[in-house]
Amino acid sequence: MREWIRSEAEDLLPKLVEWRRDFHRHPELGFQEARTAGVVAAHLQELGLEVSSGVGKTGVIAMVEPDQVPADSETVLLRFDMDALPIHEETGLPYASETAGVMHACGHDGHTAIGMGVAQLLSEHRNELPGRVKLVFQPAEEGLGGALAMIRDGALDEPQPAAAYGLHLWSRLPYNQVVVQPGPLWAAADMFAVTVHGKGGHGATPHDTIDATLAASQLVVALQSIVARNTNPTDTAVVTVGSFNSGTAANVISERAELQGTIRSFDTEVRDLLLRRIDEICQGVCQAFGASYEFELRNCVPPTVNSEAGARLMEGVAREVVGAQNVAQIPPMMVGEDMAEFLDRAPGCFVLVGAAHPEKGFYSPHHSPTFDFEESVMPTGVALLAEVAFSHLSEGGQAETEAGI
Ligand SMILES: [Zn+2]
Ligand SMILES: [Zn+2]
Repeated sequence: MREWIRSEAEDLLPKLVEWRRDFHRHPELGFQEARTAGVVAAHLQELGLEVSSGVGKTGVIAMVEPDQVPADSETVLLRFDMDALPIHEETGLPYASETAGVMHACGHDGHTAIGMGVAQLLSEHRNELPGRVKLVFQPAEEGLGGALAMIRDGALDEPQPAAAYGLHLWSRLPYNQVVVQPGPLWAAADMFAVTVHGKGGHGATPHDTIDATLAASQLVVALQSIVARNTNPTDTAVVTVGSFNSGTAANVISERAELQGTIRSFDTEVRDLLLRRIDEICQGVCQAFGASYEFELRNCVPPTVNSEAGARLMEGVAREVVGAQNVAQIPPMMVGEDMAEFLDRAPGCFVLVGAAHPEKGFYSPHHSPTFDFEESVMPTGVALLAEVAFSHLSEGGQAETEAGI
């Protein structure tokens, strides 16, 4: 490992904390990260980098490259997400959100700060880089498709990255532990919405109506049979109906019911089975009740899968950065993450960095109103990604070839 990366990343801690707290005070929802993107772009420009703003609406991209780019060198993509969540913060922290109902409750403020740190480190040493690094600051990770929006806007175009790397701070993992493993880490996530159309009427004359509430209720129960009775028990799958809205008054039979849910899976066959069975059950149940329905599938994220070569390279880097005793593997989680879109197109590795500190009270789950993480872990994130970029550009091509064999 390059020792200067370790020491310069540590030296950046006060800056990282300042940047992170500023983002934390001013959280912005997906595709609305105008202020955040502005702060990021200004920092990147100050570093003398070539910056593109407005990529995928509010995304920012910067290239770090040496004066003389070696002819056959590769490009590595490093990705950082920037969006907050529609949650009202209840931490009582001095740097708590100043925007009611919006909070950085997933740690993306930390990711953005880490990205600014990586940019600083790499740009100050850009002439030592054996290739190019594309820094991608992504909007709208939280189920809104920010990664795809950036890709559609050309984030992967010239120079095309050979590999992508990224990280997620994780408040439920021990401080400074790095989880790195090949294969699936996080699940494919699909959101679905079903609108059941019945025939409304008086609550006292049910025979003149088609009760959308009743049909939709049967549908919720029947959907639960998919995981219980259709998927192989050794496969992993989730079908959750998270929201159910129907009816307007106690004495009115509802004309329309709306269900929203999510399905999670790790492989395409299981996902196809879930989608097929949901459709069959919607058809069958609605027909049985004389109702009709509309089905909508959206915000699909493929599983987050690390390549063999990417995970191997990152594991070596992690051992150097945090010590072998702090490198771990965990069972895959059903969380979805749209870094998957980049990894699908530029195989690499996504790692989790443990940021829990229970003694200080930092143990709330992600997406909770009391979420926070231990900020002093941020230099680990900077060192991991700066070092993996250098390592990949120095050796990565070879690692890919080995994996290919
Ligand atoms: Zn999240
Ligand atoms: Zn997240």
